[in-house]
Amino acid sequence: MANTITGVAASPGIALAKVFRFTNTPYIPQKQTIADAEAEAGRFRQAIEKSKGEIEEIRVKTEQRLGAQKAEIFEAHLFLLEDPDLVDSVLDKIADEQSSAEYALYEVTTAVVEMLLELDNEMVRERAADVKDVSGRLMSHLIGKPYASLSGISEETIILAEDLTPSDTAQLDLNYVRGFVTEVGSRTSHSAIMARSLEIPAIVGAGAASAAVADGVMVIMDATEGKVIVDPSEEVLAEYREKKKQYDERRVQLKRLAEQPSVTADGEHLELAANIGSIEDLGKVLENGADGVGLFRTEFLYMGRSSFPTEEEQFQIYKHVLEKLNGKRVVIRTLDIGGDKELPYLELPKESNPFLGLRALRLCLKREDLFRTQLRALLRASIFGKLNIMFPMIAVLSELREAKRILEEERAKLEQEGVQVSSAIEVGMMIEIPAAAIGADFFAKEVDFFSIGTNDLIQYTMAADRMNESVAYLYQPYHPSILRLVNMVIKAAERAGIWAGMCGEMAGDQTAIPLLLGMGLNEFSMSAGSILPARELIGHLSKQEWASLSEQALAMSTQEEVQQFVKQRRPI
Ligand code: PEP
Ligand code: MG
Repeated sequence: MANTITGVAASPGIALAKVFRFTNTPYIPQKQTIADAEAEAGRFRQAIEKSKGEIEEIRVKTEQRLGAQKAEIFEAHLFLLEDPDLVDSVLDKIADEQSSAEYALYEVTTAVVEMLLELDNEMVRERAADVKDVSGRLMSHLIGKPYASLSGISEETIILAEDLTPSDTAQLDLNYVRGFVTEVGSRTSHSAIMARSLEIPAIVGAGAASAAVADGVMVIMDATEGKVIVDPSEEVLAEYREKKKQYDERRVQLKRLAEQPSVTADGEHLELAANIGSIEDLGKVLENGADGVGLFRTEFLYMGRSSFPTEEEQFQIYKHVLEKLNGKRVVIRTLDIGGDKELPYLELPKESNPFLGLRALRLCLKREDLFRTQLRALLRASIFGKLNIMFPMIAVLSELREAKRILEEERAKLEQEGVQVSSAIEVGMMIEIPAAAIGADFFAKEVDFFSIGTNDLIQYTMAADRMNESVAYLYQPYHPSILRLVNMVIKAAERAGIWAGMCGEMAGDQTAIPLLLGMGLNEFSMSAGSILPARELIGHLSKQEWASLSEQALAMSTQEEVQQFVKQRRPI
C-alpha cells in the first residue's frame, strides 16, 4: 500500500527505483586497557596514515569530477587527521590511561561531536558530520573492517540513509544511483550541496518515516516537491515515468539557453541575474548563464559563526565573487540583519516587532563600526569587477544620504591610504518599504538604481508577517495594489534615467514576469534555478504587447482576476 513521506527538496528532479538502505552504523568499542601503550600509539598512527591515503584518493577523484571547491571538504578531513585536538588527545589517552586506541578514539571523537552538536549554529553542527566521517574511517582501520562504502552499487538505486557523509556522496556511482533520501539534514548540509553539484535528485530531512522503508522496496522521489512515494501502484508509476520524461527533456532544452542572451520576442534585452547568499552558490549562477548577480545577501557571511567577519575576510569574498562574474554586474547588499535573521553575538535588546524594528540599514547607522568595516571591504574589492553597492530597508532620504556620506568618507580614507578604489561603482537602494515606493521619484534623484524587494514590500503593504503561516494568503504578488506600487517605482526610475531591478521572489515568478516586463523592469534577480525558465518565457513575450496588457492588469481589483488574465494571454 503506497504511502507518501515528505522532506526538504534539496536538489530537484524525479527518480524511480528500488531502495538501497545504507547504514554506516558506528562501531562502539568496549573500554579496554592495554599493556603496551607504545605499540597501541603505533597502531593509531598507522590508521591515520592509511586514512590519509584513502582520503587523498577520494579528494583527487572529487576534484576531477566536481571541481576544486567541492574537494575542499576532503582537505578539511586531511586537516582533521593532523589536528592536535583530535590526534594528540587520542595519543594522550592511550599513554595516560593505557586505553586501547579504539576506545581512546571513540571517547575523544564522541566528545567533539557532542560539543559541536550542542552549538546553536547549523554550519558548525554540519562539521560534526566531518568528525564522524573521519573517526569512522580511522575506526575501520583499527578494527580491520572495510569502511562501509557506496561504491559497490551495481543496479539502479535510490539510496535511503540516516545521513550521508561527504565521502559517501563523493563515492556515488551516478551510472546507478538515481537519487538519495536522508532522514536528517537541511538545504545547506554537505550532502544537499553535493547533490546539487552532481545534479541528482535529493530529499533531506525526511524524518523517521523514511527509516521504516525496507531495502528493495520500489519508491518514487519527486524532489521538485520533496515527496517520496513508497511502493506505488502501476498507475502512479506510469504517471511519474511520464513526468520524469518531461522533466528531463525540459532540463536538456533549458540548458541550451544558458549561453543565450536574455532577449524578448521583440528584441528587448533584459538582465536575468541571480540571488546569492555565499560563494557556494556561484557554481549554479555560472552554470545557469546568469547575466550577473542581482542580490548578494551578505548577512549570511555574518551568520553561523560566533564573531563578526573581519574586513579582510569580507574583502576576499567580495573579490572572489567579482572575479568569478568576470565583468558582469554584481549587486552587493550591505548587512540586512534583524527581522527573521538574528545574530546572537550582536546582543541587541529583544524587540516586540523585529520586522518593524532596528534592522538592516537602520542598525548599520547605529553601529557605524560594523557598517564602515563592510564598506571598506567592498570599496577595496571594487577594482576586481563591476560592483554595485545597495542599501536595504530605506524609508526616508536622510537614511540614504547618511549611508552615502559614510561610504564617501571611507572611500576618501582609503584613497588617502593609497588604496585603489573603482570610480565606476553604482550606488543603489532597495525599495521594500511602501514609503520608499510611493516616494520613488525623490529617491530616484539620489541613486544609480533601484531594486524592488517584494518579499518585504508585500509584507509591509499588506500588513502580513512573511513568517506567519496563518496570514500567508495575504502574500499576493499580483494584487493590483502591489502591481501599482511596483509600476510607480519602475516609472519613477525611467523618468530619472536610472535602471530598475527586482530581487524579491516575485522577479522569478512566471505569472509576474510578463507584467513586470510590460511595466518596463530592466533587471530580474532570482534563484539561479529559475533563470533558464525565465529566459525561455521572455523569449516568447513581446514587451510592447505586455506594456498595454499590464496597463489593463493595473486597472483590475483582485489578484485572482490578474492571475486569470495573465494565464489566458501568456504564450507558454
Ligand atoms: C526582499 O525583501 O524582497 C528581499 C529581496 O530581501 P530579503 O528577502 O533578504 O529580506
Ligand atoms: Mg528584504
